[in-house]
Amino acid sequence: MNKLMAANWKMHKTIKEAEATASELLDLLSGKLPEDRDVLIIPPFTALKAAADILLTRLGYSVGAQNLYPEEKGAFTGEISPSMIKEAGGRFALAGHSERRHVMGEPDDFVGKKVGFGLSHGLAMILCIGETIDERKAGEVEDVLKRHLDTGLAEVPADVNAEEIVVAYEPVWAIGTGEVAKPSDIVEAHGFVRKELEEKFGPKGNAIRILYGGSVKPDNATEIMGLDNVDGVLVGGASLQADSFSKIVTA
Ligand code: PEP
Repeated sequence: MNKLMAANWKMHKTIKEAEATASELLDLLSGKLPEDRDVLIIPPFTALKAAADILLTRLGYSVGAQNLYPEEKGAFTGEISPSMIKEAGGRFALAGHSERRHVMGEPDDFVGKKVGFGLSHGLAMILCIGETIDERKAGEVEDVLKRHLDTGLAEVPADVNAEEIVVAYEPVWAIGTGEVAKPSDIVEAHGFVRKELEEKFGPKGNAIRILYGGSVKPDNATEIMGLDNVDGVLVGGASLQADSFSKIVTA
């Protein structure tokens, strides 16, 4: 399966700014994307359609949402459903990003509900998992990853298509801090996630993509992409400029 190079624009970019960055990506990446790579752009909801109109229509790149609510419609002020995401051109959605877990206080079981609901309503889901610095210092990395995987994948059916589910290992202490996990830490965590995926899904667990996220930049992307069980990256800060993200995508 192709490596997945994903850009999480978080709460950045108006529609006009998103169009400008998408057009720059179009210029920088047209005809230059390595054959073994897919690109996914995850803008704020308001810019989903604008990004899809350029990147999906003209380059065939995927676009995704940063969040979803696990209901089809209803009195859920401020929320957005899978069908709204799909109609805007979205193919993927994130669940369990550390900012949603730690800033918005989303509990593990709610993350699992979102993953199951998104999948059953036609979206491919990216489950984000990862430990805080205190959990790492306390030697709890595997416990946290196991808990995030058990709860986050609880509603994923055994016959899920491996392309529809992605796990992103994002140590909380490496997100937006400039501090990248050591290659040995990444290999260890991804190896553990792979083993858990194989236990849950059998041989298919080997085909499920595991992304690394946490201060990925053009100058460290090649090394990270070369590590065992790294099937792509999820990039925040360095994805906001087309120039730096295109360098990561082709690293
Ligand atoms: C992220 O938001 O998922 C992320 C990894 O951010 P950054 O690349 O800025 O650390």
